[in-house]
This record gives sequence, C-alpha cells and structure tokens, in this order.
Amino acid sequence: DGFPGKRARRRERLRHEPRAGPGGGGGGRGAPAERRERGPAPGAEQEARVAPRRCSVAGGLGEWAPTAAPALPPARHLFSDPAEVEALRANLLAWYDRCKRDLPWRALVRGDIGKRGTAYLWVSEIMLQQTQVATVIDYYNRWMQKWPTLQALAQASLEEVNELWAGLGYYSRGKRLQEAARKVVSELAGRMPRTAEDLQKLLPGVGRYTAGAIASISYGQATGVVDGNVIRVLCRLRCIGADSSSPSVIDRLWDMANVLVDRSRPGDFNQALMELGATVCVPKAPLCGQCPVKQHCQAWRRVEKELTFASQKLFGKPPPVPDVEDCGKRVGDCPLCPPATEPWDSSLGVTNFPRKAAKKPPRAMRTATCVLERRGCHGAPEYLIVQRPSSGLLAGLWEFPSVPLAQDLKEEKERQELADHLQAWMEQPVAAKGLQFIGEVIHIFSHIHQTYVVYSLHLDGDVTLDPALSPSRWVTEEEFHASAVSTAMKKVWGALGPSLSYLGKTPGIPSTYLGCPSSRTQLLFSSGLSCSSFRC
Ligand code: SF4
Repeated sequence: DGFPGKRARRRERLRHEPRAGPGGGGGGRGAPAERRERGPAPGAEQEARVAPRRCSVAGGLGEWAPTAAPALPPARHLFSDPAEVEALRANLLAWYDRCKRDLPWRALVRGDIGKRGTAYLWVSEIMLQQTQVATVIDYYNRWMQKWPTLQALAQASLEEVNELWAGLGYYSRGKRLQEAARKVVSELAGRMPRTAEDLQKLLPGVGRYTAGAIASISYGQATGVVDGNVIRVLCRLRCIGADSSSPSVIDRLWDMANVLVDRSRPGDFNQALMELGATVCVPKAPLCGQCPVKQHCQAWRRVEKELTFASQKLFGKPPPVPDVEDCGKRVGDCPLCPPATEPWDSSLGVTNFPRKAAKKPPRAMRTATCVLERRGCHGAPEYLIVQRPSSGLLAGLWEFPSVPLAQDLKEEKERQELADHLQAWMEQPVAAKGLQFIGEVIHIFSHIHQTYVVYSLHLDGDVTLDPALSPSRWVTEEEFHASAVSTAMKKVWGALGPSLSYLGKTPGIPSTYLGCPSSRTQLLFSSGLSCSSFRC
C-alpha cells in the first residue's frame, strides 16, 4: 500500500490488542474440527489480528485501508444487516420444515426429548463425523438397539464398542464416546452438561462442534455450529475464498454461525444449515436453482451477473460498469478473499468456494501380513488374528499377524521378515519359502497410503503362541467378520478369494481379482470396498 512504516507500526499495535473473535476450543466435522481440537496453529492468531489492507467492499470502490479499528473483515464477508439475517433465517427454516430428511436419530430425539434424546443425538453426531448419512444409518440403528441409554453404553466393554464401530474409521472416537458415557454415569450422576461450554469442558471427545450441536438441538442454547457442510455453505454465501481449513478463517466462520443462528429455534436452524450443505449446496454440483437462500448468496449473485453480462455482450449491448462485487482482480490482500494467485475462475461458478490449501500427500507404508490357517476342532478352517496395541492407528482392533516393512525391500527379504516375525510368535521354525504370496492390497487411511503384502500359510498341526506377545485368537470365517477388525483387514480377507481353496472354501466377501500373471504385484480388491490405487 506504499506505507510500509505505517503497516509495521500497525502490526505492532495490533499484537497488543485483544482478539476480535471468540477463541480457543475445538470441534466440527472433518479436518477443521481436528485442527480446532488442538487450537489455532502457531502464528495463526497474529494472522487473524492483522487487518486486510485492501478489498472490494460492497457499497464502495474497495480501498480498505488500515485504520485504528479492530481487524474486522470487509462487509462483503459479514452478515451485518439484521434485516437480511432475519430473512435468511426465515427462508432457511421454512425450507427445512418442508424438506428435511427423515433420519432415524431425528425421530428418536423428537420422541424422547430429555436425557435419552440427548444420548441418541450425541451418538449420531459422533458417527456423522466419520462418514456420510447413508453409511451411518445402519451403524446407528445397531448401536442404539444394543445400547439405548448412556447407562447401557457405560457398561459395555471396549471390545464390544470396537466390534460395532468396525468399518466406521477413527476408532478412537467410539472409544471416547464410551469413556464420556462412563463419566456422565459415574461422575455427573447421569446428568449431561447442558451448555456448549460445559459439554466441551467436561466430556472427553466432545469438541466445539459436537458441544454446539447437542446444546442447541437438545437444550435450545442459541449457539452456532461449524462442520464441513456449514463451512461450504458459509464460504459460498459470503464469497470466502481464503484457505477454509486455516484457524483464522475457521474462527470467522464460527463468528458468522453464531451471528446467524436463530434465537428461537437454534437446533432446527443449525440442522437446517447442515442439511442445506448435505442436500442442496453440495460440493460438486450445487442445486442453486432450488436453494432457499440464494438471494443471500454472494457466490450465486456473482454467477448470475456474469451470465447477464455474457448475454448482453452476445446481443451487442455494451456491458454495464461492473459493481464492486465483480472486481475480483482487485482482491489481493483481504484475508478472506481468494489469494491473488488464484482469483475467481468463471468456469467453476459457485464451486470457486470453499478453497483449501493442498493437502500433504499421504505417507507410504508397507506391511507384510499373513493369513494363518488351521483346521479347527470341528473340521472347519480357523484363522489367527492378533490384537493391535491399545494406542495409535487402529488401536485395539484385531488383524492378521503383520509386520511393518521398510520401503524398497526385495521380495525375498520381505518374505524373510514375515517368516521371522511368525517364528517369534509360534516358537517353531517357519520357512520363508512355505509362505504363499497372495497379492498386494492397498488401503488409504486419511494420512497413510498403506500397502499390505499378503501371504497365507496352512498349518497342519496345532501351534503354541507366545502369550507374552499381543493377545491372539483363532476364529472361524463368521467370527472374523463379527470381530473388531478394520476395513483394511476385510480387504485383505477379500483378497484371499481366488487363492483360498483350503477345504474347498472361499472367503465370504466376493472379490474382484485383477491379477497380472507375469508380475508379482497383483491388484485385489473386494467389491463394495473401494481401492483408490493400484500398481499393476
Ligand atoms: Fe449454495 Fe448455490 Fe445456495 Fe449459494 S445459491 S448457498 S452456492 S446452493
């Protein structure tokens, strides 16, 4: 802006001013929620306090110079008109009343407001942080059948919780849900905290999002929520194109959600905003034509104007002088606008928003895993599974005996490492050559690109397992599927399909087998279990 000295002095002053927005806490679905649980990243607070120097602002031609005022974002990114906020609330709630989906937890919560209703809601909110509604419904119904109250959940074992949670991912969330239920029963006399602040403070695993959802839906507290759907809707409503996973932007979105939430129907309003993101303002092809709040949406307005200009141009009319909303090129320094290097892209329309910084590519890991098979006492085949450590990735889940491998090992070396590992388990020699190579199974965790190099070994006699090592047990095929095993292990099981001819039986999950006979590397994946990468 040509005033570097002033800017430096202003930064220095802002460093000592109180924060404009609410701070701390955490919650919400997906990546932003995780970040919020840990609090803002170092340096983020300073970033949030430094005022933007220039932005296109509705109502004026856009020079937004630093002043002594607090670092509020430009009006374009705010809901500062009370009449507009009222209208948006009314339109959204009317749409929600007409169009909301009939979800099992909604029916339960409606029919049983109070302690049990809160438990129903809580479970659904934690599960919905994992995956989409369609997947959650079956898990939710089974969970509520088994543990209809917090008291019942408090008495469950972690093994039972893991068994039911298996396949949902982020297993620590199921574990913490049960720990929190125990705390409510044993330390809080069975009474749930009733405000978002207390919920977050007192219950393990309850972050800012979950606390806000429970407090607003169950107890009517006028507090907003921010999850992945809300982030998308708000970023489009207010043309927020800065990295939507950055702590400073997330702070602004929480401010916005708290301003918007309807004071008389906060729970319905929050659900309506999330429902809008899940069904209308979807990531790839939003249904703007059916959107109940399109007249309040800056991204939609911008697209409409571009279409108008284009058609006027087509008919030879001189395009009108664009108003400031169209001055995308002027945006460069606003902390909520798209960065100058990635301006508005007309071909993307409203899906210009939200934007996220590029994710780090997942870390590559290789693991050798062996399906050990024996004939059980009733003649049916049995398979050995072992329990993973109680902390870390897939904590407490069961898997086929596995050993992590260094990258770029030769095949013989990988095979030998697995044989040595099994030998330590069974206290008897295991010949590396006796291991039958099955193939490679790839599973993508959120941050790990995991390749399982799968072998099998038939055992003729019984074996003694070293009890000093991890817990282990022999299971039938049926027991394997009922156990707390991860989706990755179910893929490994599915990979056995074409090769497991032992006793004339093949594993239960139908497999698609795309083998390359000339190569050691084969792609195996189970139908219904997605595999997003292959090497053959
Ligand atoms: Fe989302 Fe389109 Fe509605 Fe805007 S108009 S909120 S982009 S669906």
